[in-house]
Amino acid sequence: GIAARAVDVWKVYGTGEAQLAALRTVNVEFERGRFTAIMGPSGSGKSTLMHCLAGLDTTSRGEVYIGETRVTGLGDKGLTELRRDKVGFIFQQFNLLPTLTAQENILLPLSIAGRKPDRDWFDTVVDTVGLRDRLGHRPTQLSGGQQQRVACARALVSRPEVVFADEPTGNLDSRSGQEVLGFLRDSVRQFGQTIVMVTHDPNAASYADRVVFLADGAIVDELHDPTADAVL
Ligand code: ADP
Ligand code: ADP
Repeated sequence: GIAARAVDVWKVYGTGEAQLAALRTVNVEFERGRFTAIMGPSGSGKSTLMHCLAGLDTTSRGEVYIGETRVTGLGDKGLTELRRDKVGFIFQQFNLLPTLTAQENILLPLSIAGRKPDRDWFDTVVDTVGLRDRLGHRPTQLSGGQQQRVACARALVSRPEVVFADEPTGNLDSRSGQEVLGFLRDSVRQFGQTIVMVTHDPNAASYADRVVFLADGAIVDELHDPTADAVL
């Protein structure tokens, strides 16, 4: 099946003389259980594409789907439900709540949704990211790599259709980055998680099954089973 899809998507910012097309006729599908990296120069539209796919931003033309859900045209209520139930996010800056413990941060999306965690699944995710003995720690008591692993667990715990990761290793040293990327890849292999990751880093992209290259708002190339050398 297809976990996410963009069909003839345009995104235009501004009006009149100041108009700028950040995305121009983007067509792309993300198969379930696959790990895709989106690469391209700064300003090529990577963040815009991710935001449109995730329902964080609207498209100017075209349609976006997450699973069977047509995101385009959803109202505020539908978008809130989509972000809560169907997508997970991992950010460059971790975005953990400082007053909450690792466990509370991981469970926050479920708490907000009023859903009960599946205990076995929670344990599986926590063990996979190696946080068993850090669950009571607050973010300031954790290294950057550990904080990002908390954020990964938070993104996965609700079993979303797609996890979107925006430069997830941008704030990490290379060793912590490799750990986080290894975990993301394992979650694809072991749990069939679908991941879409924006990155500048060819080494990070080499963890993906596929790399989609954007330039000037359009998809210009695609690479399967990338190696870091091939991405460069
Ligand atoms: P990337 O993530 O590849 O760096 P972005 O998606 O952030 O690219 O931006 C694509 C283009 O759209 C850039 O020219 C950027 O300046 C422009 N852009 C992004 N967001 C906005 C916005 N909210 N308003 C106006 N222009 C924007
Ligand atoms: P990145 O490309 O690394 O995602 P940017 O610095 O391009 O980060 O953009 C950061 C934020 O500013 C994004 O939310 C983007 O939508 C917004 N943005 C980018 N370019 C513009 C712009 N020209 N006008 C208004 N907002 C913009």
